[in-house]
Amino acid sequence: MDTIYLDNNATTRPFDEVIEAMAAVHRNGYGNPSSVHRFGQQARHAVERARRQVAALIGARPDQIIFTSGGTESINIAVASAARSPDIFFTSQAEHRAVLAAQERLLSPRRHLMHILLPVDADGQVQTGDFCDDAGRELRGSLLSITAANNETGVIADVPALVRAAAASRTPVHVDAVQACGKMPVSVAAWGVELASISAHKFHGPKGVGALYARDREPLDALIVGGGQERGLRGGTENVAGIVGMGVAAERVRADLDEAVARMTRLRDRLEAEITVRVSGTRVVAAGVPRICNTSCIIFEGRSAETLLIQLSEAGVYASSGSACSSGSIEPSHVLLAMGIDERDARGAIRFSLSRFTTDAEIDRVIKVVASMA
Ligand code: PLP
Repeated sequence: MDTIYLDNNATTRPFDEVIEAMAAVHRNGYGNPSSVHRFGQQARHAVERARRQVAALIGARPDQIIFTSGGTESINIAVASAARSPDIFFTSQAEHRAVLAAQERLLSPRRHLMHILLPVDADGQVQTGDFCDDAGRELRGSLLSITAANNETGVIADVPALVRAAAASRTPVHVDAVQACGKMPVSVAAWGVELASISAHKFHGPKGVGALYARDREPLDALIVGGGQERGLRGGTENVAGIVGMGVAAERVRADLDEAVARMTRLRDRLEAEITVRVSGTRVVAAGVPRICNTSCIIFEGRSAETLLIQLSEAGVYASSGSACSSGSIEPSHVLLAMGIDERDARGAIRFSLSRFTTDAEIDRVIKVVASMA
């Protein structure tokens, strides 16, 4: 049985060119970029080329890119760097756990800190009214961290509006662009944000490599210190193969962005239209607001996502739930609950996430499979 992979927000299949470029590094280009001999310098050039490719994908300058081990590490550096006076962290209720956990960890051993979770509305849009305290005084934060495109619903945040709101209280902004990259145009310069995190394995690159964009160098604190790599901001010998793979993936998704977005949008919209017509009691979360092209979160009223996922998997369709699996029990997603979706519906949410590899024939088959489970 052929399998259909619709769990691309969890991770994506690496492009063949990525695998080949990485294999070439392992075979022939395994020098240490810090070595002065020619072999080392070749590795250095490969890393710097990748830095230019990644920078181009997000509208940054190469010297604003710091390679890390992925989205989670980039987010942790951003949050830890901001952990200084006046110690108010703003984020939204619908953030990825990486952001929430990084902030909570800094808060817990310290006192007099505030962690303000901005509410989201029924469409998953972040509300900024709470940049003021109860007395209406403006609160200046250490950081506002916001997700550009939500991993569960695909909802695209109005980053420029959030940046404007934060600017009024001189709060720097970090954008979690992990899901946005490669699936919508991203320009950190146009957004006007101080920091942004991205991850290669979400856009057909390898796992274990990502990048932090830092507009200015000054406010950053290294989490890992060592041999001064990445200009002292991320010690440790560079993951040259991973970085090269990320660069190749970045170049590819940038080259076909418009066409790929149009294709994925068409396939995603067809999937949603057919499922909601053929299966009663289904609805698309945040259907009326801008979402990234590949993501569809569908509620199957009165059904258990867990059971549906097993049925889908048995039919060769790999999707995921809008819920977080913790210690064996599926908890309803905090993102969906924050949007006011009731717990019962949230337990029946399935996320289908497409990629550049998804075909029309696959969508046809998924529609049939889902309709047969109705
Ligand atoms: N932020 C978002 C929105 C994500 O979807 C993910 C991964 O699921 C991450 C951060 C973490 O990225 P990584 O897996 O590279 O650590």
